[in-house]
Amino acid sequence: MSAASADRTDRDVGQTFRDALGRDPDGVFSAPGRVNLIGEHTDHNEGHVLPFAIDRRCRVAAAARADGTVTVRSTQEPDDLVTTTLDALAQARGWSAYALGTVWALREEGLPGAGWDLVVDGDVPLGAGLSSSAALESAVALAVAELTGSDLDRHTLARAGRRAENDIVGAPVGIMDQAASLMCREGAALLLDCRTLEAEHVALGLEEHGLVTLVVDTRVRHDLADGGYADRRAACVAAAEALGVDALREATPAMLDRLDGTLLRRARHVVTEQARVHRVVELLRAGRPAEVGPELTASHASLRDDFEVSVPALDAVVETALEHGALGSRLVGGGFGGSALLLTPAAAAEDIAEAVTRRAAVDGHPEPVVREVHPAGGARRER
Ligand code: ADP
Ligand code: MG
Repeated sequence: MSAASADRTDRDVGQTFRDALGRDPDGVFSAPGRVNLIGEHTDHNEGHVLPFAIDRRCRVAAAARADGTVTVRSTQEPDDLVTTTLDALAQARGWSAYALGTVWALREEGLPGAGWDLVVDGDVPLGAGLSSSAALESAVALAVAELTGSDLDRHTLARAGRRAENDIVGAPVGIMDQAASLMCREGAALLLDCRTLEAEHVALGLEEHGLVTLVVDTRVRHDLADGGYADRRAACVAAAEALGVDALREATPAMLDRLDGTLLRRARHVVTEQARVHRVVELLRAGRPAEVGPELTASHASLRDDFEVSVPALDAVVETALEHGALGSRLVGGGFGGSALLLTPAAAAEDIAEAVTRRAAVDGHPEPVVREVHPAGGARRER
């Protein structure tokens, strides 16, 4: 798994701040990326998801300014220093929109402050399905909230990150990623009710049971991803309407008899996926994490056959991983490409990483990037 750790860094973002600005930051903050263990396409049906934060973080060194100016730079965007004013935050574009949009959203909540210098660095890979965007938003949100001494709670910070992404970046994402990044605890997943935003911590117990999770980025992304996603959302709305419920989270298995064709299959994915989330939570609470594997694989089959969002490169990863000793595997994210999550005995991880890479070469798919990820704590002040 050579690629797994190649892009890790613990560079000191405080030092980067001092080098760039010639003074100390007021504080250093970090927030993790995340992966969703199970509960795919349940979020937009107001159901449950079960993400955990991972041991890759975005770090932000921040200091207040008094002149109405906001600057942001990132080691991941080395040639781009963005300078703006508090009044122009909502006009931010490109990568800086995630950071500046978050400051904008918090100001809409009444957060004070007369300007900021923000320096960003991190090792959540960008665009690899591990939510570098929420990591950046959450680290910025915590930074400006703490440095203004505000008492905004983490739900509000999560909503600000989501608002930045929805309103300033223009991406129609839900709240899962920001909630996971801000609220997760080390070693545990977060059972999040996407309707009420109620959240519960569920210990994973992976390490104690000799298990690890791998995320395989297929580096395949289909042109139809955006259209396909919108289409699936619309089908879920239509199925809920046909069943007379506000959202598919309220649909029961018995109700599915009233649907047929495409709507039946789309709704069946959501209804069975909701049930799988709750089974996984029960298994984890019972201290039986290895038994989560088959639920992941069942989720994949449902996403492939009923929700129809898989692609051959993802199916090949799942199949090959299972052949080489993975306990379970599924595509993660919206589908049509992207990444797969694998639950495996630690001893089999290396073999599986090699096998999925070989298989991609045989099938003529891009070379995947395999990363081992461990459940980590949520956003925090580093100093
Ligand atoms: P994901 O969240 O799955 O990694 P997204 O497309 O949602 O993928 O967000 C990735 C984008 O977020 C990047 O293209 C970049 O614009 C921005 N971003 C995330 N982290 C950083 C960072 N450390 N520095 C600069 N931009 C970042
Ligand atoms: Mg994202």
